[in-house]
Amino acid sequence: MDKEVSLKVKCPHCDKSLMEEEVQFKNKPSVKINIETEHDRGVLWMSCIYGSCDKKLSIEIEDGEVVDMFCPGCNKELTIAETCQECNAPLVSMVIKAGGIVRICSRKGCNNHLIIFRDVSSEMSKFYYEYGF
Ligand SMILES: [Zn+2]
Ligand SMILES: [Zn+2]
Repeated sequence: MDKEVSLKVKCPHCDKSLMEEEVQFKNKPSVKINIETEHDRGVLWMSCIYGSCDKKLSIEIEDGEVVDMFCPGCNKELTIAETCQECNAPLVSMVIKAGGIVRICSRKGCNNHLIIFRDVSSEMSKFYYEYGF
């Protein structure tokens, strides 16, 4: 039985899906985000499977570097005012279609990510329902 939870996420600003069918990890669509460093711009594709840290980058980024992340649809910044508890870099926030929020760290090499459910009882049951977890 497949127990991996795959998340479908969307932009908190324009509500557009961030899922990219053409780039896949383990046969699941990836999450596509535009990124910007001090000297370059590119695209980041992340595995949508919770707990998996698979990712692909169109540009070279050194471990430890912090990147700005933007929605490919509306180009607004996904970074929020809160910082990572592990490394103090800004966190990036995305909305889970089934309910809730996922936050990831904007520093490459830091794999801190967490899921926040706004209303645990109802959001969790939706989550279980949708993903058969
Ligand atoms: Zn957007
Ligand atoms: Zn971090």
